Amino acid sequence: MPKLTIDGQELDVAPGTSIIQAATSAGIDIPFYCWHPRLSVAANCRMCLVEVEKAPKLLPACEVQVRDGMVVNTKSDKVLDARKAVMEFMLVNHPIDCPICDQAGECKLQNYYMKHDQTGTRFDETKVVKNKAVELGPQVVLDEERCINCTRCVRFMEEVAKNPQLGQFDRGDRAVIGTFPGQPLDDPYSMNTVEICPVGALTSRDFRFKVRSWFLKHEESVCAGCARGCNIIVDHYENEVQRYRSRDNADVNQGWLCDDGRLSYKRIHDPDTQITVPHERASDGRMVPISWEQAKARLAELLGPHVGETDGTLGLALSAQLTTEGVTSFVELAERVLQVDTYAIIGRADWSADKLLKVADRNPNRAGAELVLEGYSIFDEGAGGLQKAMEKGEVKTLLFAGTDYPDANEGWKAALEKVTVVAWASNWDDTANAANLVLPLASFAEQDGTFVNFQGRMQRIKRALKPVNGRKPAVEAAAYTADVLGAAKDWNIRNWVSAFKELKKHTNLLKDVQPLSLGPWGVLLEAEDDSAAAEESAAS
Ligand code: SF4
Ligand code: SF4
Repeated sequence: MPKLTIDGQELDVAPGTSIIQAATSAGIDIPFYCWHPRLSVAANCRMCLVEVEKAPKLLPACEVQVRDGMVVNTKSDKVLDARKAVMEFMLVNHPIDCPICDQAGECKLQNYYMKHDQTGTRFDETKVVKNKAVELGPQVVLDEERCINCTRCVRFMEEVAKNPQLGQFDRGDRAVIGTFPGQPLDDPYSMNTVEICPVGALTSRDFRFKVRSWFLKHEESVCAGCARGCNIIVDHYENEVQRYRSRDNADVNQGWLCDDGRLSYKRIHDPDTQITVPHERASDGRMVPISWEQAKARLAELLGPHVGETDGTLGLALSAQLTTEGVTSFVELAERVLQVDTYAIIGRADWSADKLLKVADRNPNRAGAELVLEGYSIFDEGAGGLQKAMEKGEVKTLLFAGTDYPDANEGWKAALEKVTVVAWASNWDDTANAANLVLPLASFAEQDGTFVNFQGRMQRIKRALKPVNGRKPAVEAAAYTADVLGAAKDWNIRNWVSAFKELKKHTNLLKDVQPLSLGPWGVLLEAEDDSAAAEESAAS
């Protein structure tokens, strides 16, 4: 293990570590633009120059690997002067248009100017004029003048997306980033270039001019677009999600998101489909809004006959979009209050998986829903089995905890026509439209809990928004139903932590997991290895 000294601090690091990595691991800040921990080293911005004892000139910390006995200084006068010089060169042609730039407030150029430069310009010539607002593709817009030619975006497209749709053209102060003739930047991962652009050169068409970055509030969560469960930061303002940014979880998404997932937040606020008040089916077949008081009476009327020992004709459909704790709460409702003989996990139809992140299952928590049913030893009939049970008359009333199901299935729609449907739902879809009573369910961004991804990793989702118009998170929806059905006195599952604790009683997989100390990267749920125990007992 090479030993080195950075700013007087002695460090032991693994062979092959660069100076910038060693410094970062020790909490020593070296500024950089072009370096990115997940991309190859370009060493073109020169912002990370440091002084290394016995080296004849300053060296780029991103490129130079540590050697045993190396002595590095990141704060000498020579280094600080070099940083100022780099900043001055970068700003020679940069338009100082921060007041109208989307990156303002989170721009490396702006931040480093304040930290490492703060001098006036000596340049009194005319700046090079380049193109503004160049549409590179459906999601990404380029301001050529703001680009500092770090090539992060080019390297991302080549090395990660494996789709080299961007290039650097011309040289010197005329150099620009661009696409090739007739080939737009339309890769399904194109928006990652916006996220890694250190300045305001690449902006997202979706987020441009929406809200200044300093007004945003942030919450760590997980993308609900598919079963990968990419780690995200939900940026929100005035109780509306404005964008997702990625978090780098080495075991899940390595800091990247697909564009579909990145834009999937739009469904939460879709004015055409969002459900914010209860509805019931009128005698003419239309869905009409009703008050919560009316909804309460209707809920008692429709589910009341299924309380206690009954004919077992109530089915429970559990959406794989719900949190694990939401599923647990509805299963507890079925176990303690209602008699349910048919259970099914339902979910959105598959999409095409790809080689980078997307997995076929578009549901973020199928594994969590399965974990719950296995824990309670409940057989999952699946959507197909549930449909058959409705067709045969074995299920006459169906309670939906989330309605997400492939909309195009005609047989499913016909089966729903034969039964009484009570649905907790976030958005209008064919299933919600077929219900007799619809109750507003909060989206994942409006609740706390966990998802389990396709790898079996349990990850925290955190409430970013106040539930719109009082619509209920799944745990509260189950509690509300229990209250309406007369079980309020004994109902003890009123938040996600209490639901988690109930689930823990039913599965060994959560034995060592504490809900409130689930770390930012989640935990891989692993079954105990019985073979070692069996071998041990055989040997004794
Ligand atoms: S557009 Fe952004 S990421 Fe790409 S080279 Fe320019 S500054 Fe770097
Ligand atoms: S791969 Fe899946 S989880 Fe990741 S960003 Fe895309 S949709 Fe979301």
